[in-house]
Amino acid sequence: MPSRAPRIAALLLVLAAPACARERGEARFAPQVADARGPAQGGYVLSDGSPPASQPLASPDAPAPAAAALPDATFREPMPSALDARSPAVTYAALEPSACKAEVKRRELPVAAVKSAQRGVALGMRITGAMNGVRLTVPPDSTKFGVLDCRLALVLDDFTKMLASRGVVGMTVDNFYRPGAKLAGKKKDSQHAHALAIDIVSFDLADGRRLGTSGWGAAIGEVPCGPEAVMAASSAESVEARNLVCAIGRAGLFHTLLTPSFDAAHGSHFHFDIKAETTRFTVR
Ligand SMILES: [Zn+2]
Repeated sequence: MPSRAPRIAALLLVLAAPACARERGEARFAPQVADARGPAQGGYVLSDGSPPASQPLASPDAPAPAAAALPDATFREPMPSALDARSPAVTYAALEPSACKAEVKRRELPVAAVKSAQRGVALGMRITGAMNGVRLTVPPDSTKFGVLDCRLALVLDDFTKMLASRGVVGMTVDNFYRPGAKLAGKKKDSQHAHALAIDIVSFDLADGRRLGTSGWGAAIGEVPCGPEAVMAASSAESVEARNLVCAIGRAGLFHTLLTPSFDAAHGSHFHFDIKAETTRFTVR
């Protein structure tokens, strides 16, 4: 479904703070976000550059330290079969452009309207700053990939509040809008064609760790969330990434969530989207 070309070609614009400090020309996956966070939050940089104090040697008779406990597997909690008619996804997807524009203004969201009309997009906007304390790394203004529909901006407001409550301080977005994008192998439009979808590469946690798709722990075709979920990985990050994605699903923020369990094209990112006039809910 997504073409790799724009993903690789896209340069990143880091929206570092509400003040909207911008750094252009950084390649994707550059460590600028972690560096900008600094030792106060990240905790992994020694401020004076001195090596850590050496640990005393354990006696051969000492018991092996217990393995760190994994987080609770909340991803196994039941998933809804459909969206509630009052869920954020259904509510926002139904908004007309004028109503959406008024709501974005009322909430004072860090977004700006795109001046020129974008094919297939009802009301195009761009992110201009951090949202609810979550730093958003998005494609630069020199590409169309950073255009998002007004309704998706409202979803992101709720979404970033939820992320912040779970210790997420940053998110790297590969793209929202891909003009003319189709569903894989079909003639139907992808929601990317309407700037109503988001491809997320990673989430940054307050403790400096990054959650992405590596070590997902479920193969293509296996169930990612709910009581039947498959989890082959055993790292804390794998469980936390899965817990987060499944919680996003249960929050009713999106109609569709596609994970590395969906197909090979989604091995590199999480795809979430909203769609008007339906309560159909899909997590794969
Ligand atoms: Zn996508």
